[in-house]
Amino acid sequence: MFTIQFLGAAGQVTGSKYFLRTATHRGLLIDCGLFQGPRPLREMNWRPLPIQLSDIANVVLTHAHLDHTGFLPRLVNAGFAGQIWCTPASLDVSSYVVRDSGHLQEEEAQHANKHNYSRHKPALPLYTSVDVEKTLGLFHVQERHSKKILSDSISFEYSNAGHILGSCSILVEKRFDDRAPIKILFSGDIGRAKPIYLKPKEAPPQADFIVCESTYGDKIHHAIEPTEELYNIVKEVLASKSVLLIPAFAVDRAQELIFCLNALIREGRIPAIPTYVDSPMAASVTALYEKYADEHTMSCEELQEPDKNPLSFSSLKFTQTVEDSKGLNDLKGPAIIISASGMATGGRIMHHLSNRLSRSDTTVLFTGYQAEETLGRELIDGAKTAVIFGERIPVAARILTLTNFSAHADQREIMDWLKQMPSAPKKIFLTHGEDGPRTVLKGVIEKELGWNVVLPKLNDIVDLTAL
Ligand SMILES: [Zn+2]
Repeated sequence: MFTIQFLGAAGQVTGSKYFLRTATHRGLLIDCGLFQGPRPLREMNWRPLPIQLSDIANVVLTHAHLDHTGFLPRLVNAGFAGQIWCTPASLDVSSYVVRDSGHLQEEEAQHANKHNYSRHKPALPLYTSVDVEKTLGLFHVQERHSKKILSDSISFEYSNAGHILGSCSILVEKRFDDRAPIKILFSGDIGRAKPIYLKPKEAPPQADFIVCESTYGDKIHHAIEPTEELYNIVKEVLASKSVLLIPAFAVDRAQELIFCLNALIREGRIPAIPTYVDSPMAASVTALYEKYADEHTMSCEELQEPDKNPLSFSSLKFTQTVEDSKGLNDLKGPAIIISASGMATGGRIMHHLSNRLSRSDTTVLFTGYQAEETLGRELIDGAKTAVIFGERIPVAARILTLTNFSAHADQREIMDWLKQMPSAPKKIFLTHGEDGPRTVLKGVIEKELGWNVVLPKLNDIVDLTAL
């Protein structure tokens, strides 16, 4: 017996968790992500997993994003004490991401109790900073391209997925006494063909099964260069002297924006516009690019030289304290505020949106995927009002989306990646995509590759030895 159970990201983009169970009943959890977005999804974070925690011997992470790591402290709080594996860069990024999540959970519960807007009395955090520290104590690192043997019969190996710092695909190999081994490849979130500065993803290794993301299974990203797209918007912001408010993931997305703004300023195409990165996590993550110089195309030397550093410019400031953040409330344009979270589901961006959404001198620029029923999705879909901290706010700000900043491969890039697989797998399971996009991608894979494509539903179990 060797089964896979889809415990998240099955018909949605968050909550990535896949459990591989062996005949001993114990097994391996691939990713341990938080469900984010609509309330019914978020409520799933409060439910126990449909497996015994004692069955999980190891957790192996593809990358540090919260929808792949954010459930770990809950798992640890419930009694998990096994080992958690990731790359060295993922360990550093995860420690920021998961710590930030612990603080946010605590802050949001406090805020909801103070302003009395939660349905729960009192509102409780999903986990606390204490759970987070316990979780980080269970982390172990594993480099790419080096096989990690977890038991006599099961091992895994990382390859680069080109999505964020430290991100990987995972090839799991299960050996048997009485049959050929089974190899299953987890794509993780896979990056673009030409990332802004990250090293691009590697070709997939041969596998019997693939669990592949499908976030943009129905889309082709626009061909415009990200820097050009940003340039067009910043030009308008400068002309209208407005404030450009950018909700951005603190990991990579914030740095990509800085990288492109830096290039535009350095080339003299825009003046040094006052730019505030209001995310302590983004500031911390930015410092990691020097430590992990082999993950990207920027050199250590240029990162250390203030005049050459692609992740810095004279009018760029990182705000650390809450007071500094509040100080931005009266900021006059032209100026840029970059703050997290990217889908406007929490974090300091909520305070900026609450302050600026009703103002016509503000442009809100979304830069990545906006999951269903997030505030980000509502706004890009044209909502006339928005509820923030229990208060309804009219939307007078201009709402825009950057189309080409995604860290996720589009349909064509996913297909190009899959086509590099030396021969057809027995089955490919499409996950990490809403049902619309993954159904479209299923059709394209069937047509162009003739592969057997499965769209697993939440909690489905498939016996891989029976296929
Ligand atoms: Zn991701």
